[in-house]
Amino acid sequence: MLNGYAGTVLRVHLTDGRVEKAPLPSTLAEDFIGGRGFVAKTLFDELPPGADPLGPENLFVMASGPLSGHFLPASGKTHFGCKSPASGGYGDSNMGGHFGPAFKYAGYDMLVLAGRAPAPSLLVIDDDRVEIRPAGGYWGMGSLSAEARLKEDLGEDYQILTIGPAGENGVVFACITHDFGRQAGRVGIGAVLGSKNVKAIAVRGTGDIPVKDASGVYEEGKRAYQAVRAKPGFTGWTPEGTAGITDWINRVGAFPTRNFSTSYWDRHPDINGQAILRELKITDKGCYCCPTPCGKYGKARTGLGDVYVEGPEFETIALLGSNCMLGDIAEVGYANYVCDELGVDTISAGVVCSWAIECFEKGILDRAVVGRDVKFGDLASVVYLLEQIARRAGIGDLLAQGVRAAARKTGRGSESFAIQVKGLEWSGYECRNAPGMMLAYMTSDIGAHHARAWVLGHDLAGTAANVHDLIASGGGGEKMPKSTPHGRARYVVDSQHTRPLFDLLGICRLQYMELGFEPEHYERLFEKVTGRRMSWRELLAVSEKVWQLTRSISAREIPGFGRAFDYPPERFMTEPVPDGPNEGHCITREEVDILLDEYYALRGWDANGIPTAETLRRFGLADAADTMADWACRRSVRQS
Ligand code: SF4
Repeated sequence: MLNGYAGTVLRVHLTDGRVEKAPLPSTLAEDFIGGRGFVAKTLFDELPPGADPLGPENLFVMASGPLSGHFLPASGKTHFGCKSPASGGYGDSNMGGHFGPAFKYAGYDMLVLAGRAPAPSLLVIDDDRVEIRPAGGYWGMGSLSAEARLKEDLGEDYQILTIGPAGENGVVFACITHDFGRQAGRVGIGAVLGSKNVKAIAVRGTGDIPVKDASGVYEEGKRAYQAVRAKPGFTGWTPEGTAGITDWINRVGAFPTRNFSTSYWDRHPDINGQAILRELKITDKGCYCCPTPCGKYGKARTGLGDVYVEGPEFETIALLGSNCMLGDIAEVGYANYVCDELGVDTISAGVVCSWAIECFEKGILDRAVVGRDVKFGDLASVVYLLEQIARRAGIGDLLAQGVRAAARKTGRGSESFAIQVKGLEWSGYECRNAPGMMLAYMTSDIGAHHARAWVLGHDLAGTAANVHDLIASGGGGEKMPKSTPHGRARYVVDSQHTRPLFDLLGICRLQYMELGFEPEHYERLFEKVTGRRMSWRELLAVSEKVWQLTRSISAREIPGFGRAFDYPPERFMTEPVPDGPNEGHCITREEVDILLDEYYALRGWDANGIPTAETLRRFGLADAADTMADWACRRSVRQS
């Protein structure tokens, strides 16, 4: 019995319907903790090298962590991984809600889906009963509609995740939706589930999870709730959630606007957290056991109709709002709802739509190709593009491949304003004058994503300990001095270990990041739950090991992988910001190379950004070192 874990790995071979259950290896729990660690190790060991991301050989892996499912603050996170159809390399994404705890109560820590079901299917898990059922009329439904129907048909006590038409149709930024508005949004995880012919996974769990010290968990959990409630951000940050940062982001000139052509927009008061409270919000909505419910559930009333929607949170405001220039929070909410129902990631969708609109404005894509006029600031244009994408109709077939592939096929200079790294569209921070944050995006292991490291505060506003303090401290608003690239790598590396650690534990990071909730709480909770005493530093070392492993997977899977895959889009290196606090600033290619040189040296990677065998062995990853050596040998043979 492993304290903190349900104890079983569930494998479903969809091609022939076999279901296998095996004890969770204690070495996996000891060496990789859970969640993202389990996902990375499983993909490294079991993914056939060179697998087609949307072929049956790819794996869909889902794992919870040891703190998930206990009555502890925000302990409802679940992690998903695959070979990403967006990047062709390592991909993962996490999701809140209630699914992960239910999966543990059903008796499982990890699910591995292999192969492809012969026909559209549902996976239904009712404690130890695991069934593959025909998807029937659910196939083709929107994500939210399918979840509602499944709740009616199976029962309210099932936790359900679904894909929408985008996932069914292989859109490389298709997401998974759960609890009517929680997503595992990134890397095309929804397309991978769709490629396996699985429309939905439903789980009902009624069992227990063993813990080392039940009364200790209760006492520490209670203390943790009280400590979160005592944080100033509890009343300062929670009411608006992530949207509360909108004004500050604009003030420091990091608000992506008009396809990242600038970083400042004076319409921000119309789409910020206050606008949500004023125009949309009906109620707060939180994940399992969360003391700081950051979700805002509301009603968006627009000329295209009225919809109920969870959100928009900050990323959606940035990418569907300012980046597509929708300057009305109800319109941003409506576009958010359309993405949720179609099953596409709002971040990637916003980047792809804004790229297409810029192409149209510049005459690179004409009316005959696009199918109608599209323009910035027009909700109907955005909704039209989203619907075309999800159904792969007309222009949607090009855009469904993601902005990198779409730009490569389109050419005519459009690659320079395709805002992505490694094929993953850039999330909500413009950072031509924020070299640390730029480096964080460049080196994020899944592509351009903020959740791996967030160092904008260091770059632009000094040293406030958490986001709530940053916002409260004011700052920005004036012309920002040009930042230097030197010395940024250290805090990017540190942040890349801290943020993903929460994805190992199966718990939300926002209490730590946004409110400054102390690491000692997590150390004590981890010990009471698992019986293992690990310091914060030791936990971070596991997170660092996983980072080495995920980079190794991408190096193995992506032909020619290396430094060239870490460069930011051309726009950021050639077009100075035209207005706002960072007017006149951009980052040069030389500065980008300084960032990468310092970063690779700290990581123990070679000059091309590949983990060395010595580094991998130092982290106890001898298997990875051997595989990498084998991979390098095969490549050199192929090249010669
Ligand atoms: Fe979920 Fe937000 Fe709470 Fe985190 S802070 S657990 S994302 S509701």
